[in-house]
Amino acid sequence: MDRIRFQRAVRWLGVLLAAVLAVPTQPAAAQEFTPGSAGLGDPFFPLAGNGGYDVGHYSLAFSYDPATRVLDGTATLTATATQNLSRFDLDLRGFDIERLTVNGSAASYTREGQELVITPSAGLPAGAVFRVVVGYSGVPEVITDPDESIEGFVPTDDGAFVVGEPQGSPGWYPANDNPRDKATYDFTVTVPAGITVMANGVLAARTTAGGRTTFVWRNTSPMAPYLATATLGRFDLTQYTLPSGIPSYVAVDPTLPTGNVLRKLPDMVEFYTSIYGPYPFEAVGAVVDDAPEVGYSLETQTKPVFYRMPDEATLAHEISHMWYGDSVTLTEWPDMWLHEGFATWSEWIWSEHLGRKSAHNWFKTLYNTPPQQTAFWTPPPGDPGSAEFLFNGTIYYRGAMTLQALREKIGDGDFFEILRRWAAEHRYGNVRTPQFVALAEQVSGMQLDHFFDVWLYQPEKPTSW
Ligand SMILES: [Zn+2]
Repeated sequence: MDRIRFQRAVRWLGVLLAAVLAVPTQPAAAQEFTPGSAGLGDPFFPLAGNGGYDVGHYSLAFSYDPATRVLDGTATLTATATQNLSRFDLDLRGFDIERLTVNGSAASYTREGQELVITPSAGLPAGAVFRVVVGYSGVPEVITDPDESIEGFVPTDDGAFVVGEPQGSPGWYPANDNPRDKATYDFTVTVPAGITVMANGVLAARTTAGGRTTFVWRNTSPMAPYLATATLGRFDLTQYTLPSGIPSYVAVDPTLPTGNVLRKLPDMVEFYTSIYGPYPFEAVGAVVDDAPEVGYSLETQTKPVFYRMPDEATLAHEISHMWYGDSVTLTEWPDMWLHEGFATWSEWIWSEHLGRKSAHNWFKTLYNTPPQQTAFWTPPPGDPGSAEFLFNGTIYYRGAMTLQALREKIGDGDFFEILRRWAAEHRYGNVRTPQFVALAEQVSGMQLDHFFDVWLYQPEKPTSW
């Protein structure tokens, strides 16, 4: 279709639509408007996320002063109603609400635990795009997880280490905090001059006036709320462009001992691109902070955050998560092995690629663990049982062993095709384990129910598969 004809067709379509719309519809009173659900029913975090709408974009603007630890912000969410909504929730923990509007009109609200329950002045019809503005301020609450790790907007001696997996994001911004509701983001963060803010995406602006610096970051690829960050503090920021044209931002806390490991980041991106397919995002990088009180690193989208200078395996692990975890994301948290098994196996294949210990030998070493060491073998990776075991070693190691066992059962050709197709067919999407099993069976032409049952769901050491 050429352009002129296309425009004419569009014009006629417009006339037709206007005619259809002119036909009187049901009176508004006949339509039911009901509240969106307070959660999305995740088995581990049933209240995380909310029903009745889908967020398209978050615009987060706030100031933060490490001296007072006060965050003062305005979050603007653009969302689409997925039902006729009389009321809906956002997830937010702590903070005073200073202003709340929906489509420019003041909305009433109540607080119930992590739920910010919002009643707009008029119902929101299904399909309507609406805008929520939340003005909020306070000292962010640090959140303790079921496994006793901490997350959220965690203060450090020079700023904050900001991580949200699995439920830390409502500790610093109002969110539909469920991995299923991906959105684009921009961040406008003002801090005392001398502090650097590292958020997701591309650095769009950095301006200093009156002793304060404002950083603007834009994340244009879909992102799950838990992968957002705005880690800030004293950082040496190095910017460069990868050979593929992707901008890279590497920030290092200057109090940390330097090393060579971060120089390997471009090679890692290139290697994983060669086996997993195109790098999924508009930027890459790393944020290396000094946050021993947090004690873990996280694959925040486009630039993972590290609580200390990472070793090579940890850097490889977090970079590989850009494909598996960030771009291809679980639908429900019990499927965590789809993130951690893949990232741990990615460490092994990086090692194999460099001619060091092969993935086969990593598998062999771990497989030698006796069955009596039940803490190594249980809970099985496909069924952590409770949120307390979400980050258990089995999810990582037995998850990775599952992939290596699959590789050895079906051969490299089919195995790598499965990995590439998994990344391509679910790019920016959400997945469940049965979809992976189905893809593996489709590509290999083999019946793999028994294989995956033994490796993912049986609580003891696999012996035949
Ligand atoms: Zn991981």
